[in-house]
Amino acid sequence: MVQKVHVKDIGIEGVNPPENVCNDKKCPWHGEVRIRGFIFKGEVIRVKHGVALVRFTRYHYIPKYERYEIRVSKIKAHVPKCLNINVGDKVLIGETRPLSKTIRFVVINKI
Ligand SMILES: [Zn+2]
Repeated sequence: MVQKVHVKDIGIEGVNPPENVCNDKKCPWHGEVRIRGFIFKGEVIRVKHGVALVRFTRYHYIPKYERYEIRVSKIKAHVPKCLNINVGDKVLIGETRPLSKTIRFVVINKI
């Protein structure tokens, strides 16, 4: 018998829910956290204590030179227990309520 797992609809299209289940309160799929605000794609450069440091680049236009410069941002994101995130993974992170002093993002899933 296949057990039906309760997974929330997090309101983002094109993202598959994780295969594992967790009882993490700060999980967007199985917990109480809701995604709202910014969503970024980035690469994980550090994982420690359930927190991933995600880096992504964006282009900033400079009108004087009519060219773009690359700007790099790093964001700390909470990793739910149902996801197995390693350094080098491409992940999708979404903004949530403040989860701790410096964490306002949560890892949604790998890309
Ligand atoms: Zn979960």
